Amino acid sequence: MKTSAKKSTPTRKKPAKANGVKYPDIQKDLEGQRAAILAEAGVVLTNPTGLEVFPDVSDQASAEADQHFSFRIRERERKLLKKIDEALGRLATHTYGICEGCQGDIPYKRLKARPVTTLCIECKTSQEEAEKSPR
Ligand SMILES: [Zn+2]
Repeated sequence: MKTSAKKSTPTRKKPAKANGVKYPDIQKDLEGQRAAILAEAGVVLTNPTGLEVFPDVSDQASAEADQHFSFRIRERERKLLKKIDEALGRLATHTYGICEGCQGDIPYKRLKARPVTTLCIECKTSQEEAEKSPR
């Protein structure tokens, strides 16, 4: 009987960034979405169909560029971008995946499917029902 308690399974550490995030893959998804939106906005920015952003040496230049930039992101994307930023912020502060309605854990499956969500399905459903509010 071999009593070598050593299990020779090499601790294969995943090459994930060790930043202590609870859902590293969701963080990746969010960052990917964010990059995609920004890239799309960047395409619009460099497309000379309207106003061009003139590089300036003044301090105002970046602020103005920001303004142009946000103008050119469509409202819908801007909202999504905000949600993504908020979700990334919650990931960073370890408050991600907690339902704003009931303070319960939002199931991973739901987070994966809709990473910017702040409500579990039950709370979301009751919120939607309240919004519909049949009169
Ligand atoms: Zn809930």
